[in-house]
Amino acid sequence: MSASGIDPRPNLLGLDRQELAAALAPLGEPAYRARQIWDAIHLRLALDFEAMTELAKPLRRSLAEHFRVTLPAVADRHLSQDGTTKFLFRLDDGATVEAVDIPDRNRRTLCISSQAGCALACRFCVTGYWGAGRDLTAAEIVGQVWAIRSLQAIEGRLNLVFMGMGEPLLNLAAVRRALAVMAPTISPRRITLSTVGLLPGLEELGRWPERPNLAISLHAPDDRRRSELMPVNRTHPLPELMTALRRYPLEPRRRLTFEYLLIAGFNDADRDADQLAALLRGLPAKVNLIPLNPDPVLPHAWQPPAPERVDAFRARLERHGLTATVRRRRGDDVAAACGQLRAFGREPRGFRRSQLSL
Ligand code: SF4
Repeated sequence: MSASGIDPRPNLLGLDRQELAAALAPLGEPAYRARQIWDAIHLRLALDFEAMTELAKPLRRSLAEHFRVTLPAVADRHLSQDGTTKFLFRLDDGATVEAVDIPDRNRRTLCISSQAGCALACRFCVTGYWGAGRDLTAAEIVGQVWAIRSLQAIEGRLNLVFMGMGEPLLNLAAVRRALAVMAPTISPRRITLSTVGLLPGLEELGRWPERPNLAISLHAPDDRRRSELMPVNRTHPLPELMTALRRYPLEPRRRLTFEYLLIAGFNDADRDADQLAALLRGLPAKVNLIPLNPDPVLPHAWQPPAPERVDAFRARLERHGLTATVRRRRGDDVAAACGQLRAFGREPRGFRRSQLSL
């Protein structure tokens, strides 16, 4: 252990096959050993070198001297009545993040975090209320998924969504590495990055040879209301964002998902649906409507629209030729629903006064 109490041995969890082979090269083992070790960690979820009995004892000892395989510690776990489980993970330095396991018929969606907090301060988001935190490493991103895989009986199709704490495009290097590590077990086609739409990040993502699905947090059909909800819109206003998205290299048969939070009396009128449809015209897009999940730290006047209004909004979008779905509330009895994630390890920053004009 170092003076900080953090184990200085590199965590093999964040290395893809080539990186693992390079890390093991100084031990002088043949290349197939790296494959065996990679398979043990990522396919069998072996965390202890002693459990890798296919390796000779001296090699197991040498591995344990130089490396470790560590999952984030589960600090708390809450099971919702609907089967959703929310996890609070504690990382090596004491930072905490949340992740959510959402079972749904024959598939499973894990919602994971890319940062231990978020500086972007979207007003509908509890993570934003708590304020900035550090970027997660690739090992910490993979670790959330592997920790849930090791604790929950996961059968059927596994999807990953980066919709937990943090903005993935602000931590793209670690996200990319984590995706490369998980690629042999979870294809990028089953992974979705959710972003507020940071233009430099979108450009970089567009250059990746294999890209995950993309979801854009839109939430309002014009700059005035989007800036009220999302301060980042002042830096990347809607016309610039939409131009960047029209240029984004989508693979055939793929669509962009637009997330649209519905707040009663704020952005849920028929004319808002018309404006939203006009904004998305010509894009291969689907809209995911999310009735607001209230939380004690969010403005009290904000409420979700009545179910009939949500339905009317969806139907209006469909009349414009858009595919629109309504996200079911999952895990709201354990504060695991969309926008409700926080990590209670520190004091909230709160929203800045200048943001509270609504
Ligand atoms: S919605 Fe996403 S980008 Fe906005 S504050 Fe929350 S975590 Fe950050």
